[in-house]
Parts: sequence; C-alpha cells; structure tokens
Amino acid sequence: MRADLREDIRAASEAGYDLIEFWAKKMIAYLSSHTLEDVKGLLKKAKVKPLAINSVEFITFNASWEKINTMNLIRRYAKIAETLKCPYVVLVPSPRPQGVSNQDVFTESVAVLREISDKFKEVKVKFAFEFLGFEWCSVSTLEQDFEIVKAVNRSNVGMVLDTFHFYAGGSKMDSIKTVDKEKVFIFHINDAENRPRDQLQDSHRLFPGQGIIPLREIVAALKSIGYDGPVSIEMFRPEYWRLPAEEVAQKGMEAIQKFV
Ligand code: ZN
Repeated sequence: MRADLREDIRAASEAGYDLIEFWAKKMIAYLSSHTLEDVKGLLKKAKVKPLAINSVEFITFNASWEKINTMNLIRRYAKIAETLKCPYVVLVPSPRPQGVSNQDVFTESVAVLREISDKFKEVKVKFAFEFLGFEWCSVSTLEQDFEIVKAVNRSNVGMVLDTFHFYAGGSKMDSIKTVDKEKVFIFHINDAENRPRDQLQDSHRLFPGQGIIPLREIVAALKSIGYDGPVSIEMFRPEYWRLPAEEVAQKGMEAIQKFV
C-alpha cells in the first residue's frame, strides 16, 4: 500500500505474476498526471495483464445522492477497465444498517447488482461482488453472496472468494461445493493470524501458509468444482508495507505456489 501503480506493475512483473489487480485509488492517482495509454505501455513492457480494478466500496443501502455518486464511480472504473481490456471491477457490499434482516440484505443486493448489470451491459467488463467476513458487513459469507449472485442471474455479475473473508465470516467449507464455478470470477488467497474470527481485521492477514486458514482444503474444494480462474493475493498488512514492493510480491508468489 506504500507503492504506487507503476511500482506495483513493476513488482508484479519481476515476481513473475501473469496478472495484476489495480488498487482503484492508485489508478485514479496515476491518471491524474498520466493517460490510459501510459498504463497500457507499463503493462506491455512488464508483460503483465490486468485482472481487476479493486474496488468500489459500499454499493448497497445508499441514499439516493450517494447512489448517484457510487454509480458514477462504477462507470468511471468500468470505462477504464474496458479501455485496458481489464475483465473485472470488484464491488463491495455496505455495512448492515440497524434493524435490517437477511431478507432485506438479499432484496437490496439483488436490486442494486441488477441495476449495475443493466446500466453497464454495453461495457465489456464484469462485476465481482466480494463478501467481507466482518460482523458489520451486510454480506459476510460465501453462501449469502452466492444466493444473491444466483438470483441476480446475469452473466456480468459474479463473486470474489477471499479466503480471509471466508474464514473470518465463518463460511462453511461445504458451501464451496454448492457454488457454480462460473460465478467465482476471482479467488483471493490470503492467510490470517490465529485469533478469534470476530476479532480478525485486514491487518492480521499473512502470506499463505503462515497462518491458520485451511487453505489446502479451500483450494481442494475449488478444484473439485472445476474452478480454474485467477488466483490473487491481497496483503493488507502494514508490517509488509514497510518492505520493498518487489520483496512482498516475490514472497507472495512463493507462498501462493505452495497451494496451487
Ligand atoms: Zn479480497
């Protein structure tokens, strides 16, 4: 999180990644003084392909004026992604408002995702809805996310399965086997410190293999449904941010390769 977009692309390239997810705010920062052609040039030189723009946060339960801003942001990222031939934009659910039931969350999430699906159906980009395993998040398990995405029933809407959120939110291992593999757009592989699930924060993430998440079991379950999509790593750990980006990318790649 200390490196900028250019450094991220270079680090990914040097560590041998095929793909990169762009942190959305780094993209906007880079584009304040560069063009999308410049980004294409960096990717071409690095021989790295774009995977996703990550992310637009809190897309549900917005007041009308907030919703307009959110839709404008999604449009902006979707257009950037399309120009870069970047297949996905990641979308994140909102905190659960007080007194809101699971049924309300389902209804709201399906409605908003359908609206996004319709609004941007001409854009050659798909939208990956990522549940967060935090207690405050309205969509916190794989089961819940899949139920929503299945009901949305559009080819441009799917999910992100992040092992950190899968574990923290208490998703059931068996639930992976009930998921349609076509709806898993992106797999985030991360580990976590050994702490009670409800206390886990992003800063407790660890390189795969260093923590307590049953990654082998999760990977095996994904393989059993035939998932062969991208595997990505997200290290929201401040301790790692102090290291050179190249070193974090390299360690991440070595860690991932033990599991896939
Ligand atoms: Zn993630």
